[in-house]
Amino acid sequence: MKTAKLAIGDQLPEAAAASNSAVEKNGSTAAVAVAGKNGANNSSSYGRLNSKVNILVVDDRKDKLLALGAILAPLGQNVVEARSGKEALRLLLKNEFAVILMDVSMPTMDGFETAALIRKRPSSEHTPIIFVTSIGNSPAQMYQGYLLGAVDYILTPIVPDVLRAKVGVFVDLWRKTEHIKQQAERLRQVEEAEHRRRLAEAHDRLEMETKRNRFFTLALDMLGIGDLDGHLLQVNYAWETVLGYSEDELKATAPEQLVHPEDFAVILEKVKLLQNGMPVEYFEVRCRHKDGSYRWIGWTAAPFPEEKLVYIFGRDVNRRKEAEEKVLHLNGELEKRVDALTEINRELETFNYSISHDLRAPLRSMSGFAQALMDGDMSRLGPQGSDYVRRIANSAKRMDMLLQDLLEYSRVARASMPPMSVDLDGVVSEIVTLREREIQEKQARVDVKSPLGTVCAHLPTVQQILGNLVDNGLKFVDPGKLAHLRIWTEEAPSRNGGPDKEAGCGNSTHSVLRIWVEDNGIGIEKEFYEKIFGLFERLHPSHTYPGTGLGLAIVRKAVERMGGRVGVESTLQEGSRFWVELPAGANETK
Ligand code: ADP
Repeated sequence: MKTAKLAIGDQLPEAAAASNSAVEKNGSTAAVAVAGKNGANNSSSYGRLNSKVNILVVDDRKDKLLALGAILAPLGQNVVEARSGKEALRLLLKNEFAVILMDVSMPTMDGFETAALIRKRPSSEHTPIIFVTSIGNSPAQMYQGYLLGAVDYILTPIVPDVLRAKVGVFVDLWRKTEHIKQQAERLRQVEEAEHRRRLAEAHDRLEMETKRNRFFTLALDMLGIGDLDGHLLQVNYAWETVLGYSEDELKATAPEQLVHPEDFAVILEKVKLLQNGMPVEYFEVRCRHKDGSYRWIGWTAAPFPEEKLVYIFGRDVNRRKEAEEKVLHLNGELEKRVDALTEINRELETFNYSISHDLRAPLRSMSGFAQALMDGDMSRLGPQGSDYVRRIANSAKRMDMLLQDLLEYSRVARASMPPMSVDLDGVVSEIVTLREREIQEKQARVDVKSPLGTVCAHLPTVQQILGNLVDNGLKFVDPGKLAHLRIWTEEAPSRNGGPDKEAGCGNSTHSVLRIWVEDNGIGIEKEFYEKIFGLFERLHPSHTYPGTGLGLAIVRKAVERMGGRVGVESTLQEGSRFWVELPAGANETK
């Protein structure tokens, strides 16, 4: 390496110009480096490492400054010049320097004074200072320089290679320090990011926990955590609302003190399941309230064997349970009443049957004698006597009709009705045949839409039902109008709880057949649709339309006994349509 010796005072204007332009550059470079340090721009920090380093050269003499600049130029760094201690301080305010080359003897403020002020500033207290001085300096002066933080002395005349080597060391040192600073900064940033991440995690956990706790606290249901022996470890406020005990009281209470003695076996069984790691299905037991009363609580619980904990959910079902018990009690009462009423009904029906039956014998002799009188010489009775006898005979006839209907009603109400497959076409054709004379006399018409199909019912009773409906259809027609009846069937929608097919018919489905009997008669007002099915209910006096008021009551009773339904639709003056629903017969394919 070639060592050139340069005397201070040698002029090197190009080097000075180069170094001054570097000051400008350096100003902006330093600014960017500061931003990088704040963590806003890492690439700037790297840039700072690769960029040029500032070297401050302080001397009152321009020629010496130029000479120093020329010596340091090969280092390829920014050599910044200051012509006085004051200017040096000003430059140090704005820039960072790797090293300061300081002339000791300067007017106004010498190198030592300047160094003392530099050291006072925190930003520059550690910046290395190399004093440039002549050999003439005393050791005492040099000692003072070291006290002020001088790291070295360069004696004039300067040996350029030595100066460059010394300054180069500080440039390296500065770069390494910067590198370490940047690494420390990066480390700090990584640590900060990690710290922030952990903080965010902790915050999220806390938020979740707070939300869970809110559910726990606000839930209307009883939520609790217990151990595998059934002791409570934590409960929410609902427990106090329902059972009256505070959390501490509950924690100190053994399960057997809390549960009704009669229900405790259930608890033991559930605890055993939980101890074996199995969840328990919903169950209800009575729990003791603090006031001594018992409340029904519905429970479920799930074990967490790893934690040796059981999560418990309870709901106050006391009101529902009480209501259920009331309903049960009322049902029992109702059943008793129904039994009593059924018994009374049975007695009444028996009474009705025997009365109707027994009354017929004297009635028969009454009407027999009246008939005998009428068959004899009526002139002997005179007109009034004949009228009386006729009236007796008519009344006896009407009473017999009533008794017959009453007996029929009794039979329908009491008789057993074993179901069988009933061919409706056969039934209807028999009904029409039996009434053939009446139909001809009235010039009535009966249209049957065959096939009518089959029902699963009691044959004589079906005959009775349809017979009554046909009779009414032929009867309740305006005088002068010819009766026209239509009979057809259709499959009705099956009903829930509808007629259950008896095994006797061999049909396991719940299909239902609806039989329609339609007339073109006087019709019925809607408000009487129900009423006409009652006992002795008639809408017309018997001199207009004779009858007993029992025909439709018999129909309803009979239909219901066979598991069916009956109803009517009607339009006044246009006609009525009675319908009867009965279980469809086996393999009914209508
Ligand atoms: P009855 O026919 O002996 O009078 P029912 O019990 O058969 O008694 O009928 C009750 C009442 O319902 C009848 O008196 C009548 O007023 C009315 N009614 C029944 N069937 C019809 C019908 N097809 N058209 C109009 N009214 C009817």
